Amino acid sequence: MKVSFPHMGYLYIPLKTLFKGLKLEVIAPPPISQKTMELGVKYSPEFACLPLKINMGNFIEAMEQGADTIVMAGGWGPCRFGYYAQVEREILQELGYDFKMVILEAPDSRISELLLQLKALGEKVSVREAYKAIRFAWKKLIAIEKLEKMLEYCLPRAVDKNHMETIFERALQAVDEAESQQEVEKIAQESLREMEKSPFKSAEVLKIGLVGEIYTILEPASNCHVARCLGRLDAHVSRSIYVSDWVNDHLFGGYLRKSNHKQIMQSSRPYLNYEVGGHGRETVGSTVDFARLDYNGIIQIAPLTCMPEIVAQSILGKVSEELEIPCMTMYFDEHSGAAGVYTRLEAFVDMLQRKKNLPSSPLLLEARA
Ligand code: SF4
Repeated sequence: MKVSFPHMGYLYIPLKTLFKGLKLEVIAPPPISQKTMELGVKYSPEFACLPLKINMGNFIEAMEQGADTIVMAGGWGPCRFGYYAQVEREILQELGYDFKMVILEAPDSRISELLLQLKALGEKVSVREAYKAIRFAWKKLIAIEKLEKMLEYCLPRAVDKNHMETIFERALQAVDEAESQQEVEKIAQESLREMEKSPFKSAEVLKIGLVGEIYTILEPASNCHVARCLGRLDAHVSRSIYVSDWVNDHLFGGYLRKSNHKQIMQSSRPYLNYEVGGHGRETVGSTVDFARLDYNGIIQIAPLTCMPEIVAQSILGKVSEELEIPCMTMYFDEHSGAAGVYTRLEAFVDMLQRKKNLPSSPLLLEARA
């Protein structure tokens, strides 16, 4: 069995570890490229949201490399995600690929069910081995997110931004190759220290909350690398969701660590008091929380036509007015271009820096010259 899965940010690293721990051969999809996008767009319905198209490109590329099993998450609720796996399977079968699709349904807090789903996927693994594989993958995920959060903090403040990104990329690769939990911890600690010790500028930086649809937030290739661009424009970006939050809340029912999901739902209540699918409610609740934490602005990102985020966008205007926090919404599809996205980010950052009487970032000054 040669297993592959969709690309979503750095999730491929813990997923590789998980499947290897289940004694499966893993063919990770290649990084998302122009070719991935072109394949996905060519074979997906035109009206499908961008993540489905990118998934399709991932699967075709992985199967061209020999993958014969696709592992995909299932879902439910009032948006299109619940149909993704079925639609993708039918398109790939029509294209003539011979493969098996395994759909992992989020058990929403029944841990034993998840363990059994994973054990069933693994060839000849005991429940204990499946548990060990999950534990090691979780350790890698946590280490990666610590590195990501440190980069989000350090990049806008760093004197040498290229150097900061190099430390991060090197650490990611080392975590990917690590064979034990101790090794993962050592790499993370050393890299975090190296990032902290790098020279920083003394000027205050903007704080921007990034909210929206989960895939667009987690996969930089789907959003023209918004978070990195903002970091380079001297803005500290905090995301409303990280993969570990989703895993903890939906797969483990908040068992792995304290969850802030209830708090986010509570914050959304005065503005949106019912489920709209996807992460629509989380978008509203997180915006309220970021405003209360004195963030300077909010950027909402989502695939074009994403229904839950369109609902959330219609409410963000009121949140923005009442809590006095500027909000900007950006939708992405296969036609989004880095130059256009970057121009909008520059304008938003420029507006926030002027509002807060902060000096313009050197990159903005360069663009204006
Ligand atoms: S949340 Fe949005 S992008 Fe995701 S499947 Fe639903 S409609 Fe599509």
